[in-house]
Amino acid sequence: MGRTVVVLGGGISGLAASYHLSRAPSPPKVVLVEGSERLGGWIRSARGPDGAIFELGPRGIRPAGALGARTLLMVSELGLDSEVLPVRGDHPASKNRFLYVDGALHPLPSGFRGLFCRSPPFSKPLFWAGLRELTMPRGKDPDESVHSFAQRRLGPEVASLAMDSLCRGVFAGNSRELSIRSCFPSLFQAEQTHRSVLLGLLLGAGRSPQPDSALIRQARAERWSQWSLRGGLETLPQALNAHLTSRGVSVLRGQPVCGLSLQAEGCWKVSLGDSSLEADHVISAVPASVLSKLLPPEAAPLAHTLSTIHAVSVAVVNLQYRGACLPVQGFGHLVPSSEDPVILGIVYDSVAFPEQDGSPSGLRVTVMLGGSWLQTLEARGCVLSQELFQQVAEKAVATQLGLKEPPSHCLVHLHKNCIPQYKLGHWQKLESATQYLAAQKLPLTLAGASYDGVAVNDCIESGRQAAARVLGTEPNI
Ligand SMILES: Cc1cc2nc3c(=O)[nH]c(=O)nc-3n(C[C@H](O)[C@H](O)[C@H](O)COP(=O)(O)OP(=O)(O)OC[C@H]3O[C@@H](n4cnc5c(N)ncnc54)[C@H](O)[C@@H]3O)c2cc1C
Repeated sequence: MGRTVVVLGGGISGLAASYHLSRAPSPPKVVLVEGSERLGGWIRSARGPDGAIFELGPRGIRPAGALGARTLLMVSELGLDSEVLPVRGDHPASKNRFLYVDGALHPLPSGFRGLFCRSPPFSKPLFWAGLRELTMPRGKDPDESVHSFAQRRLGPEVASLAMDSLCRGVFAGNSRELSIRSCFPSLFQAEQTHRSVLLGLLLGAGRSPQPDSALIRQARAERWSQWSLRGGLETLPQALNAHLTSRGVSVLRGQPVCGLSLQAEGCWKVSLGDSSLEADHVISAVPASVLSKLLPPEAAPLAHTLSTIHAVSVAVVNLQYRGACLPVQGFGHLVPSSEDPVILGIVYDSVAFPEQDGSPSGLRVTVMLGGSWLQTLEARGCVLSQELFQQVAEKAVATQLGLKEPPSHCLVHLHKNCIPQYKLGHWQKLESATQYLAAQKLPLTLAGASYDGVAVNDCIESGRQAAARVLGTEPNI
């Protein structure tokens, strides 16, 4: 009898792990178990009455680097090339990003010349921050907060305006708590290797081997900054599901895993409430905090480590306005915590992907709310109503973008614990988990956003690597 691998969680990480397992020359029997009725996890697209697409989770995937290329390769293998909506390098959504500071939108400097001009909200041209960075000595600590790293190397303004906003935009988190080593590994590595982040980024880390396909070449030639899919990003998990089913993978939905126990023969019993599955190996692609509660008492040290990887919540408010115009054209704007503790940023969806607008006059924007404001409300056990989030979002759009008319369509979702926080020392948790799994020879592999990157590309890569480890096609690190 062949081996059985059970994959926990049908988000993009679990789907990617199952995809790569199923494409092995002699694949094991694969069972993917998803707790909810829907696959895709946080990747979720909704359609408005006029056919407009509203992304409730991620809305764009970056094509850059080896990870971006591998995702595009998978897209082609799934037959989705004709569905891809690229944002080309010369498009305003690629060139323009804004910060909302002191009650106004400020374009982030772009290009070489931009570095030499004074560009508010920064008091001096960013060239000076760059010069400071080039002359700073290498940091000595094994990890540092994003804020402290940015302040040390680039100065207090870049730390408290640019990096603070970036942490809110990517992680919905606090730059004073998040780890530079785990959240922005390329910046950390550049300093370690070249003493200077700028030098490191200029000289590069050496190109890792990249896959090649017509779509990847097109993305490079046209300098795409991101892409989506015509019917919304949820098309990707849907296509993966169809592909997995066609390859004989059992995809179980509406079956929350409620426990894992080790059998005498060294395999797992995966409990699903009324029934159970036997597995020679388990790939966990559920959040670390969920897995920590499923593990058996024998794995208590691992469960404890995983339970310390927390996630924060984000409220996503999708708004559509009839016949309205944005004051600027770009990807969107971020808001530093000093300006507004509530609004993380606003994405101008219609600028990047007008093809998804439905009716031509329907302008779509998405307001992301979170940060310390939401954490405090959650900690106090306050009632978090949809009306509250809608009201706050509409007010932000009126103040920050001047859209004062009521929206024609609105969707509000509170995503509880949706973005893992890689806090200072996160790398030690990963090391401790890896060492424990190796020392105990547990037939368990970890994948998903909780560990090594939250972007969709990172999650897909974590699934690919988990599959490779199980198949023994890559070193077990
Ligand atoms: C609002 C938002 C916006 C984002 N924007 C972007 C973006 O623009 N670009 C980008 O690259 N990334 C973005 N991200 C990040 C990215 O979407 C996520 O990190 C990624 O989708 C996480 O995938 P995952 O499979 O690791 O986890 P999840 O999506 O959390 O999937 C885990 C799955 O496990 C299931 N599960 C949980 N418990 C159990 C159980 N006991 N038994 C069985 N199944 C279980 C869940 O139902 C879920 O389907 C965004 C995230 C959010 C929340």
